[in-house]
Amino acid sequence: MINAAEIIHARSSILFVTLDSLRYDVAETALTAGRTPRLAGMLPGGQWERRWTPGTFTLPAHKAFFHGFLPKLPQPQQPPRLWECRPPAFKTVRPETFVFDAPNLLAGLGQHGYRTVCIGGVTYFSRETPMGAVLPQMFDEDHWRPEFCSPEIDSTRHQVDQALEVADRHADRPLYLFVNVSATHVPHGHYVGDSTDSAASQAAALAYADEHLGRLVDGLTADRRWLIIMCADHGDAYGDDGFHGRGIAHPSVLNVPFGAWVQG
Ligand SMILES: [Zn+2]
Repeated sequence: MINAAEIIHARSSILFVTLDSLRYDVAETALTAGRTPRLAGMLPGGQWERRWTPGTFTLPAHKAFFHGFLPKLPQPQQPPRLWECRPPAFKTVRPETFVFDAPNLLAGLGQHGYRTVCIGGVTYFSRETPMGAVLPQMFDEDHWRPEFCSPEIDSTRHQVDQALEVADRHADRPLYLFVNVSATHVPHGHYVGDSTDSAASQAAALAYADEHLGRLVDGLTADRRWLIIMCADHGDAYGDDGFHGRGIAHPSVLNVPFGAWVQG
């Protein structure tokens, strides 16, 4: 069990990666088929957990994540939360849960000396429009360039290069380093030479990103301990029961892969 309160009071850094739009079934099938060897080597037990997302598209899911909520197990009993906003007095919180006395997790970590950094991917993190600034402006520092976004076939390489540069520059203080991997978000048909997007092309996008995710974790954990969380923000429908896209309460969107572990 992860004791986030201990990790944060020890000022260990935190890496939070969202694999945008990655379906649980796509992630699980790719892992079982040996197409994501770096993830298989890092995830606890070599497996993704199936969880339910708190939001069906990028904005509500990340709003929830940055306010301390994470995807939940699809069962009545839940493990202790890693962190939560200070609740009203009548509610008790488990000792391994980090409680922040702030309106959101990022501000709460800031009170404990963390620098919060956003490596954007999809356009909700691009600041190209007023709404595209809502999420990145929650951070102390945010980065986005067109080559971080899903139309670029080598987007994860560019994102990971930026993330490692940030970690190197702030080696003297704890980080909350967030990376929104865009490769698994449409369009990804180009990974299989197709003009349409499908579960098969999303799997190919994930197989591409796998090497760079391994490179990111290797680089970060070489000389310090990190709490690492990787999950999808939501899934995506590719004609399932006739549905396409996200923002809908369909199982292809609600079920997400999740993994959390301490490394280094
Ligand atoms: Zn998303």
